[in-house]
Amino acid sequence: MTDKEIFSTIEKAAITHELSKGEIVALLQCKRVEEDLAAAADLTRKKFVGDGVHLRGLIEFTNYCKRSCAYCGLRAANKRLTRYRLKDEEILNLAKKAKAYGYETVVLQGGEDDFFSCDRLFNIVSKIKALDVAVTLSVGERSFEDYKKLKEAGADRFLLRIETTNQALYARHHQGMSLEARKRCLENLKELGYEVGTGSLIGLPGDSAETLAEDLLFFKEIDADMLGMGPFLPNPDTPLGAEKAGSFSVTRRLLSITRLLLPTANIPATTAVETLREGGRDIMLNSGANVVMSNVTEGAAREFYALYPGKSGVHDKPEDMRGMWEEKLKSMGRFVAKGKGFRNLTPY
Ligand code: SAM
Ligand code: SF4
Repeated sequence: MTDKEIFSTIEKAAITHELSKGEIVALLQCKRVEEDLAAAADLTRKKFVGDGVHLRGLIEFTNYCKRSCAYCGLRAANKRLTRYRLKDEEILNLAKKAKAYGYETVVLQGGEDDFFSCDRLFNIVSKIKALDVAVTLSVGERSFEDYKKLKEAGADRFLLRIETTNQALYARHHQGMSLEARKRCLENLKELGYEVGTGSLIGLPGDSAETLAEDLLFFKEIDADMLGMGPFLPNPDTPLGAEKAGSFSVTRRLLSITRLLLPTANIPATTAVETLREGGRDIMLNSGANVVMSNVTEGAAREFYALYPGKSGVHDKPEDMRGMWEEKLKSMGRFVAKGKGFRNLTPY
């Protein structure tokens, strides 16, 4: 593609919110479009979701996991990790604190840990919902019946990254799991009325502009409500420990294209991007993102929820973070969005 073609492709995306696979690939292969793409995505973000940034209070409640995703420090086979599970009352107390800090969404995230049976989670979610906050779950693959019961408990949203939509790549990095099952979970969640979040792990060894473009078309096809686009970060305690990290520029371009194609989606500036590059989250907020997850977990659990080394913010004080974000967003010409932060389908 010539420069002229590249820029008219960005313009087309900003107007129609449609791109072909070939056009996405061209944008992902062209590093020099990064700033223009970010500027177009930032305008689209302003027009469709406004200047408010949704802050979510994140509770990492268990680092036990029965799965063995090749990239993740929580994988069952990682014997070097100190495991923890928060007690039900501890989780509820953290949710109360999150509410007191001013968060209006509580995200419960953890490994796939059967100790947290559907009934146990049902109880926890019901009690948190009584605090009048939105609840997002990120607890991996469960049956339709479990998802249904958790919806009945009041859960509003669910995050389940597809990681990659490429069959061979998915199989390579997810022993004992299947892309079909993952997709079925996303379908079930949609059918049950959850706001559904998914996304890609960018820079997963073996991915390419083509596989990432296919991911984006999939997100558009399922009309995902939330899109977490984060770079892969190698963890030495996993089989992918010696691989190189996902690229900051590719992550940024992919996030910007995501905003252009799904203009009303809620898109976080991820912790992984901040870990990859200090200040990276602020750059993503200016490149199409409108959500930040702020970790409200306390004590040693913060350190032991170790997906990858050097995780940003491990030593931050949860009680300071909301104020910090208010100040920071103000300096960026943005503000903390009010309300529970559901997807807003009406342009500003
Ligand atoms: N177990 C649930 C699941 O897999 O959906 C939720 C928790 S899991 C730790 C949340 C996300 O962490 C995954 O979707 C994955 O993309 C991300 N993650 C795990 N290991 C990572 C790594 N090494 N680099 C970047 N992100 C990673
Ligand atoms: Fe478990 Fe999720 Fe990590 Fe996979 S990504 S090993 S399911 S915590």
